[in-house]
Amino acid sequence: MSISAFDISGKVAVVTGASRGIGRGIAAALAEAGAKVAVAARNMEELESLKREILASGGEAEAFRLDVRDLAQIEAVFADIRKRFGRIDILVNNAGMGQPIFAVDITEKSWDEMMSLNLKGLFFCAQAAGRIMLEQGYGKIVNMSSQASVIGIPGEAVYCASKGGVNQLTKVLALEWSARGVNVNAVGPTFIYTPGTAERLDTPDYRAKVLAGLPIGRVGTIADVAGAVIYLASAASDMVSGSLLLVDGGWTAQ
Ligand code: NAP
Repeated sequence: MSISAFDISGKVAVVTGASRGIGRGIAAALAEAGAKVAVAARNMEELESLKREILASGGEAEAFRLDVRDLAQIEAVFADIRKRFGRIDILVNNAGMGQPIFAVDITEKSWDEMMSLNLKGLFFCAQAAGRIMLEQGYGKIVNMSSQASVIGIPGEAVYCASKGGVNQLTKVLALEWSARGVNVNAVGPTFIYTPGTAERLDTPDYRAKVLAGLPIGRVGTIADVAGAVIYLASAASDMVSGSLLLVDGGWTAQ
C-alpha cells in the first residue's frame, strides 16, 4: 500500500453541522487535505466565515443553509450540492447535540428534539447522499457517533440512545450499500475540547472527573477526530465498512 491511499484531493465532501465545533474543524481539515468542501448548517454567517477561511488558504468551499430536521431542505440542498460540484464523494454526517437531562425529567419535546437531529436528520442526510453515491458507484459516509454509543452515561439517556442508533444505522447502511461502492462507517469521540465544551472542560472539578476516565491522560482535540474522519474518507479504508472507530483515548477499553 502506498501513502497515496490517504489522499483525498479533488474529492467532493459534504460536512453537516460545519458552522462550529468539531464539524467546522473537520471541514477545514478536509479542505486542507485537498477536498472540495460543501459546508452545511443553519448559521450562514458562520458558514460564510468558514468558507472565506478555506478560500484564503487556497481551498475550495461553498456554504449551504441546512436544517437537517427538515426533510425537504435535505433533498433540495443535496441536489444543489451535486449541481454545484458535479458529484458527492464524502459525507460527514456530523450535526448533532447533547442535552444532559435525567431520565425522570425527559419530556416528549426534549426526546423529539434530540432524536430528530441526532438520528432522523442523520439518516435522511445519509439517504440523500447515498442515493447520489450509489448512482456514482462510489462514496464514503462517516457518521458522527460518540463513546456514549457503547457505554451508558447517567443523565444522557436520549443522547446515548441516539448515538447507539447511529451505530446500528451505520451497520445496516453498510450492509445495503458496501457492495455497490459506498462505505459507511462511524467515528466515536470521547470528550473533545471545542469552543462549546471549553468552559466545562476548563472547570477543574469537571476536568478531573473526565481525565479520570481517560487512560491516555488528556481530553481529545478536534484534530484527533479529523484524522479518523480523513482515514475513513480515503481509499486507505476501502476494506472498512460498518465499523465504529472509537477516538476515545482508551475510555471504553477499561
Ligand atoms: P456543537 O459545537 O454544538 O456544534 C453542533 C453543530 O451542529 C453546529 O455546527 C450546528 O450548527 C449544527 N446543528 C445543530 N442543529 C442543527 C440542525 N438542526 N441542522 C443542521 N445543523 C445543525 O457540537 P460539537 O461538540 O462540535 O459536536 C458535533 C458532533 O460531534 C455531534 O454529533 C456530537 O454529538 C458529536 N460529539 C461531540 C463530542 C464533544 O465532546 N464535543 C463528543 C462525542 C461526539 P447550526 O447551529 O449553525 O445549525
